[in-house]
Amino acid sequence: MNNDFLTDLTAVHSPAVSLDPEEVWRCLGPAGSARESLQAEVIRSADEAESLSMPRAISGALLVETARRGTVSFTDGSAVQGKRLPHVFEGADGAIFLIATAGPGVEARANEYFGQGEHVSGIVLDAAGTAIAINALEQTLAQLTWELKQREIKVGPAIAPGTETWSMEGQRSMFDVLPARDIGVTLLDSLMMHPQKSQSSIIPFGRELHLVNDPNEAPCRTCRAQRCPMRIEEYAGPLGG
Ligand code: SF4
Repeated sequence: MNNDFLTDLTAVHSPAVSLDPEEVWRCLGPAGSARESLQAEVIRSADEAESLSMPRAISGALLVETARRGTVSFTDGSAVQGKRLPHVFEGADGAIFLIATAGPGVEARANEYFGQGEHVSGIVLDAAGTAIAINALEQTLAQLTWELKQREIKVGPAIAPGTETWSMEGQRSMFDVLPARDIGVTLLDSLMMHPQKSQSSIIPFGRELHLVNDPNEAPCRTCRAQRCPMRIEEYAGPLGG
């Protein structure tokens, strides 16, 4: 494979985020009977979060050398570790490393609300800040995915540190690979990111990638691993339904 395209995946991005209130609801979780009374606050917080945030993202790409025994090694000598990662990287040529942030403005304002005893405003704005960071990551990933698909390269699921697939230690790899300070994001000793409203993920890619992030192509439809936390699509029987 000609690897010139790797430079197209290495960049600082400034995605323009326009939040749908439903994105805030997804971060708030189910509100039950309180949903109707909170809707105006959710809409207000979505607008406030947009005005307070400065979404940015940074991406880079590395080529895979090997993926086996709980370790995915890259040709630059770096590696990521996690029992299930070699499965996610089956057939992968490389990985995108991606960190996105809403910036510090939203959490500073949410903390002010908490300090003033306005807990509902603080909680909803906090969720809106998370929604901004997720939106920034997804938008940037959509752009990078488009770049890869132009070259008929398949893309896998985004795997975040601190999930069943990849332990929180993975954050160290993210920050070893990406100069995240360029977008104002640092890694704390706790392995949390600062600003807190930030998201990080690694995304495998390759022409022969096995676990593609497409329900119609993913092998999960015919896979019986019922408790798999990485499942992309429901089991549809031995022939895929
Ligand atoms: S459900 Fe099966 S194919 Fe899908 S990710 Fe899990 S182990 Fe892999």
